[in-house]
Amino acid sequence: MDALPEFDLMRPRTLDELIAARTAHAGSQLLGGGTDLVVNIRRGIVAPPVLIDVNNIAELRTIKADALSLEIGAAVTLTELAAHPNVARHYPVVAQAADHIAGPTQRNMGTVGGNLCLDTRCIYYNQSEWWRTANQHCLKTTGDICHVAPKSRGVCFATFSGDLAPALLVLDAEIDIVGPAGRRVMPLADLYIGHARQDEPVTEANGDGKYFLSLRPGEFVAAVRAKNTPGLHSAYDKIRIRRSIEYPVTGVAVALRREADTLADLRVAFTGTNPRPVRLAGTAELCGGPLDARVFAGLDALVRDQIMAMKTTFTPGHYRRRVAGVLARRLVQRLFDGGDAHSGMLT
Ligand SMILES: Cc1cc2nc3c(=O)[nH]c(=O)nc-3n(C[C@H](O)[C@H](O)[C@H](O)COP(=O)(O)OP(=O)(O)OC[C@H]3O[C@@H](n4cnc5c(N)ncnc54)[C@H](O)[C@@H]3O)c2cc1C
Ligand code: SF4
Repeated sequence: MDALPEFDLMRPRTLDELIAARTAHAGSQLLGGGTDLVVNIRRGIVAPPVLIDVNNIAELRTIKADALSLEIGAAVTLTELAAHPNVARHYPVVAQAADHIAGPTQRNMGTVGGNLCLDTRCIYYNQSEWWRTANQHCLKTTGDICHVAPKSRGVCFATFSGDLAPALLVLDAEIDIVGPAGRRVMPLADLYIGHARQDEPVTEANGDGKYFLSLRPGEFVAAVRAKNTPGLHSAYDKIRIRRSIEYPVTGVAVALRREADTLADLRVAFTGTNPRPVRLAGTAELCGGPLDARVFAGLDALVRDQIMAMKTTFTPGHYRRRVAGVLARRLVQRLFDGGDAHSGMLT
């Protein structure tokens, strides 16, 4: 195992101190639980000279959850989120997603902000320094080409694999972003810009697996908020290779509303497939009738169009896309039937 390089650690106690620290240290990175960041530092993937620990700021450590709305501070741990009774009761998709991240030790340390801003992953990237050197690195670090798609013309397809984002996307969540220029609020969906279009240049608004967050320099996520929608049923499910301590092969969040025998609202979002978490566009057109073959065929078509899994993990891209579709179908059916849409493991 590689030794950690030198870095300074700052431990602000207020949001103002955190903003001041970020402004003063341009190359700094926020430290939540460090369950991903420290691994990447150890592997020489990133080398921030300053880490700013967010865990001592009370304002970032609170959960407010009731039948009307949900607000989660960025430094709340995944264990705290999964165990919160009102989150489990009113926003089950969020509690289930949190409960299925990694294993208990990572969940005890890992934070909501760290999970939402989790670095994208690839079998050519999440490797030791010597391994990457032996393979001449790749675009996401210091290399010249993408080993997954050598003709990608500068585009990286590393995969976003955080479990919380799809769960919050189906609730239309917003995030509070704080930075040197103040506070702004935006839809969580707009945080993720990893569209990775092979035929288009990477720009500020149209990123890829390397530039996948829309945060401006010095900005960070302070909180995430969502409103409850009466009658909306939601759940999260995930397929992973091992039963614990494992990123999703594919994760899917579904929220739907049923009125008598009619599918009145349908929202579906995925992780582990594209360089961003994908909330499927076009599901509204599937609503207004019974949950029948037409809906499932439409859902399959949307998955085929919008889920673009590449060979960035040990499971092939086409397999992940098929699994995504199957997982979504099962969850939709289970929620529509009013069953306990438990988060299960399928292998
Ligand atoms: C063995 C193992 C298995 C794992 N399995 C899963 C899994 O199944 N699902 C999953 O989702 N994750 C998984 N992870 C990754 C990780 O544990 C979780 O995603 C965790 O939630 C990351 O949170 P953290 O606070 O530890 O992030 P950190 O490692 O502290 O930070 C991650 C990134 O987010 C940035 N950051 C942190 N807080 C903020 C903020 N408030 N605003 C802006 N940027 C911020 C950091 O600078 C860094 O770039 C796994 C990790 C390991 C080691
Ligand atoms: S998708 Fe390509 S550029 Fe991106 S991390 Fe993997 S090999 Fe590197």
